[in-house]
Amino acid sequence: MRLDPAAAGAALVERCDALAALTEEPGRLTRTYLTPRHAEANTLVGQWMAAAGMAVRVDALGNVVGRYEGAAPDAPAVVIGSHLDTVRDAGRYDGMLGVVSGIAVVEALHAAGRRLPFAVEVVGFGDEEGVRFGATLIGSRALAGTFDPALLAARDRDGTTLREALTAFGGDPAGWHSCTYGAARIRAYLELHIEQGPLLERLGLPVGVVTAIAGATRRAVTFGGMAGHAGTVPMDGRRDALAGAAEAVLAVEAVGRAHGVVATVGRMEALPGAVNVIPGAARFTVDLRAADDAARAAALADLDGRLAAVADRRGLTLAQEPLHENAATPCDPALMAVLDRAVARAGLPVHRLMSGAGHDAMAMAAVAPVAMLFVRCAGGISHNPAESITAADAGIGAAVLLDTLLLLAEDTPA
Ligand SMILES: [Zn+2]
Repeated sequence: MRLDPAAAGAALVERCDALAALTEEPGRLTRTYLTPRHAEANTLVGQWMAAAGMAVRVDALGNVVGRYEGAAPDAPAVVIGSHLDTVRDAGRYDGMLGVVSGIAVVEALHAAGRRLPFAVEVVGFGDEEGVRFGATLIGSRALAGTFDPALLAARDRDGTTLREALTAFGGDPAGWHSCTYGAARIRAYLELHIEQGPLLERLGLPVGVVTAIAGATRRAVTFGGMAGHAGTVPMDGRRDALAGAAEAVLAVEAVGRAHGVVATVGRMEALPGAVNVIPGAARFTVDLRAADDAARAAALADLDGRLAAVADRRGLTLAQEPLHENAATPCDPALMAVLDRAVARAGLPVHRLMSGAGHDAMAMAAVAPVAMLFVRCAGGISHNPAESITAADAGIGAAVLLDTLLLLAEDTPA
């Protein structure tokens, strides 16, 4: 059996449009965790799931879960998931495309009366972006068993705690453990997501197989110099912290290029910050990501050397403060090989690429082998209302996802 990409694609885009209409802010798409619009999205997704032959439930933390039984009852599930929450002023495919694609795949199985040797579950995670409570991946961490219950006391900007919001939503803060899948209950986790980058478009490919979700290091760096009068201190007598930071920005860029990683200074501040004062201090952030943890470590060591050299030469002090650190999440090699085969069977060139952005698959890797399929998006634009895909590409993505399940079924001993 196959999914017809053209017909499936049109339906997928239509469903993403229907979800995009559920927004907290007029004129733009914002749907955050445990809000009335989130409840409406769960209801709509639940209706689609039920129509596709799935048993539907909303779990204790507000994730909507549909289950399509396998040939044998209570078989471990292949879980297909992504998120239903958005950033503020979001695009309509980031997250949602993965959920509706999973439903489309089950719909096709259901229409053909086909049962696989494993159950198929589709999950619409309630929180991935972390907009409302400042903590990302709440939904998938609950499934993976790595949710931190201390987060229940986290407050949104109106002062409502996660615990209160869950209760008002009809969830069960104390029962978050009931969301958790043991490794015996889940055979694999698959996620289809828009690429959010430009590589597939550049290569002219509709889909790509993800190798790993990048590990990341974020730091706050401060150069300290000497503030002084911009008119009276001669150029050779200055310890200008911002001029040092400017060199550091170029060093960050050079390190990214030299090590094949991505490295960014996204924020910079000069102090005291007056037009007629030589900056006595400069603060900036570094965000460095790599699919390979060893490559990230090597790039950081190189960067440390370059920053120290800048500080040394300019007579500045240098302080670095860690902000965030997460290891890379490698995708499962056997699942990647199955995705490769499905892409090849669709008559497409197989291309592998890393994910620079975080995804629910990061959390799910704690409990199951994970793999991801990226779908091309226009200009690599994401977290932006201009986010755009074609129905044809969406259809190809869903067709490859269905074929992946069929290949996994062939590989399953009876
Ligand atoms: Zn996403």
